[in-house]
Amino acid sequence: MTTSPTRLPAAHETTGRPRVVIIGSGFGGLFAAKALAKAPVDVTVIGKTAHHLFQPLLYQVATGILSEGEIAPATREVLRKQQNATTVLGEVTDIDVDARTVTSQILGRATVHPYDELIVAAGAGQSYFGNDHFAEFAPGMKSIDDALELRGRIFGAFELAELATDPAEIDRLLTFVVVGAGPTGVEMAGQISELARRTLRRDFRRIDPTTARVILLDAAPAVLPSFGEKLGERARRQLTAGGVEVQLGAMVTNVDADGIEVKDADGQVRRIDAATKIWAAGVQASSLGRLLGEKTGAEVDRAGRISVQPDLTLPGHPEIHVVGDMMALDRLPGVAQVAIQGGRYAAEAIKRRVAGKQPQAPFHYKDKGSMATISRFHAVVDLGTLKFEGFTAWVMWLALHLLYIVGFRSRFTAAVNWLVSFLGRGRSQRVATQQQVYGRLALEALGAGWEATKTGGPKNVDPAGEDMTNRESA
Ligand SMILES: Cc1cc2nc3c(=O)[nH]c(=O)nc-3n(C[C@H](O)[C@H](O)[C@H](O)COP(=O)(O)OP(=O)(O)OC[C@H]3O[C@@H](n4cnc5c(N)ncnc54)[C@H](O)[C@@H]3O)c2cc1C
Repeated sequence: MTTSPTRLPAAHETTGRPRVVIIGSGFGGLFAAKALAKAPVDVTVIGKTAHHLFQPLLYQVATGILSEGEIAPATREVLRKQQNATTVLGEVTDIDVDARTVTSQILGRATVHPYDELIVAAGAGQSYFGNDHFAEFAPGMKSIDDALELRGRIFGAFELAELATDPAEIDRLLTFVVVGAGPTGVEMAGQISELARRTLRRDFRRIDPTTARVILLDAAPAVLPSFGEKLGERARRQLTAGGVEVQLGAMVTNVDADGIEVKDADGQVRRIDAATKIWAAGVQASSLGRLLGEKTGAEVDRAGRISVQPDLTLPGHPEIHVVGDMMALDRLPGVAQVAIQGGRYAAEAIKRRVAGKQPQAPFHYKDKGSMATISRFHAVVDLGTLKFEGFTAWVMWLALHLLYIVGFRSRFTAAVNWLVSFLGRGRSQRVATQQQVYGRLALEALGAGWEATKTGGPKNVDPAGEDMTNRESA
């Protein structure tokens, strides 16, 4: 059932202050909203989900270390003390750049939000490089839904292996393939291996979880290519020492329920029988980028990112700011710091305009470095001139992630869960329900609209997509 669109009152009809609409409650959107806390404006944050998601720790939810609540606080709660901010749950489906309105939808209810200033920070979804049918068998990792489904699939594979009698079936169930050797894939593969070799070691009676195969695949010739050759090689060695089989120069050509087909650099095609496949290979910017491109004439690249001007606005539309994973500017990577700094920059531009001040200098991204964990007590850190790995890097990773988790309570419980998992062997978040495992497939069976949002945009986009996981910052 759909209702006719409800038009929310314009700013001058309520407080008389300029109305800032922010699309997205991720890093770009949330940090922009917070930066406007003291500004004489009315802020509306529209999010497809009711939470802010700390994506860098999704793999820990998927592998039972953290609970979803620890990395996804309610946006409403985060902004509860910010009197000039309102939170709206809904998916933005249209932006009228002439009338200056944004339309959001939820359960057939359409709401129109007028704006004076718009910040678009809708991020990116998973890209299967034109092979969206892979998604059925190889879930990506972009949302809480994805992480919980993967948790169910990973722990479920061990359960099914315990029941199986055919050795080939046991091997298939105990084979885990992670596609994509960027930071997400590396962290995921490292954690599954640790789960099998430490956490589950004594939990089963018939199978030996330590025999599980964890394969990290990439078409590229290196692990963590954005960290440089030396750190990438060290990460590869550390992964291998932790029981992960690293297969490079291996391009995925097909994925089905029982396995994955890969073409090696020498052209040979081979098959890996594996029940659990995880896609950590590429991203496609939100379809709002393409929509805005059509409406403003701004260029949109193959990964759906929209080209912004040096001040992060669109040509001819100084009131529309685009930040984070959706924007294309100077080949900046799709990382949290780009989104955070972009969100703050857009907020400052709005504050200056409202105060009648001169605009700021063009956006300048300050690269704070990059890091990825390989295993317990081991990480790699790239601070530009300083590159190192090992325990110190891991402690730095731990401290930084604790700092960026939103909310004291989440930080505290995450720290406790890390103590349990890293000092002990336990993982306290092993629950997965049937709905979490099968819900996505059931929803997909219901219709096309669901799948379009899942893969970051409609199907009529350039199928090539692009790997934007080339992270250069932590
Ligand atoms: C698994 C994983 C691990 C990562 N690890 C790291 C890391 O270690 N270090 C690092 O720097 N970066 C990492 N990143 C990248 C980082 O998370 C992103 O660069 C960052 O989140 C981008 O911020 P954003 O605000 O542009 O988008 P997001 O944080 O993705 O936020 C987008 C927001 O828009 C909302 N939205 C989308 N479409 C709509 C719509 N139509 N209507 C309304 N709302 C909408 C979403 O619900 C979400 O709230 C990782 C990403 C992933 C997926």
